[in-house]
Amino acid sequence: CGIVGYVGPQNALDVVLEGLRRLEYRGYDSAGVAVRVDGDGSGELASAKKAGKLANLEKVLADDPLPESTLGIGHTRWATHGGPTDRNAHPHLSADGRVAVIHNGIIENFAHLRAECEAAGAEMRSETDTEVVAHLLAAAYAELPAGPGRFAEAMRLVSRRLEGAFTLVAAHADEPDTLVASRRNSPLVVGVGDGEYFLGSDVAAFIAHTREARELGQDQVVEIDRTRGLTVTDFEGAPAEPAAYTVDWDA
Ligand code: GLU
Repeated sequence: CGIVGYVGPQNALDVVLEGLRRLEYRGYDSAGVAVRVDGDGSGELASAKKAGKLANLEKVLADDPLPESTLGIGHTRWATHGGPTDRNAHPHLSADGRVAVIHNGIIENFAHLRAECEAAGAEMRSETDTEVVAHLLAAAYAELPAGPGRFAEAMRLVSRRLEGAFTLVAAHADEPDTLVASRRNSPLVVGVGDGEYFLGSDVAAFIAHTREARELGQDQVVEIDRTRGLTVTDFEGAPAEPAAYTVDWDA
């Protein structure tokens, strides 16, 4: 339902939670966050999720704080597949915990993909249509050569296999500087700040920080990277130019 992503110098959890608060007007039944713990190279993700209002999640975070981070994602869920429980709340993690995914929309062909992931040995931890994406992304990433753009390429490969409506944002434990996102039949906007980037299901997610927005077109993938900036392609990898605009309403 509501999506926020952040890469930049600020405390990612603060930015993400404030974005989720600004998306509360959309309505939701649960909320969750994941951050990539600060540090170079192969690191780890930390996450928390909880059914109910954002206050419930904030209580979990107060009791059990996440480590420092400058890269994070957050979601408010409106359940379509699987009840509004803690387990079904997003983010969903791959079996090895290396990939975290948040999703708005419905993956129509999830049952088929779920069977494939289970046959490959993945144990499902939720009843959502979303969880398969975490497993598929981890598998696609593992097959690709190391180097810039690897995570975005994994997102393109997976996106091509998904049917239905989706805005997806993903973080990887091995990618300290990069978030990737994808969209089909569901909106995704990027906020461009001064040395920082935001992702949102709408501009309310980042309006407190920047008014410079880029709207992704249908079937596009975006990578936001601390040093390489913003890269948008279609699902095949051809470069695309997102529509740039300045948000002119008051925050
Ligand atoms: N279909 C997903 C789920 O039920 C995402 C719902 C949403 O858009 O929040 O978990």
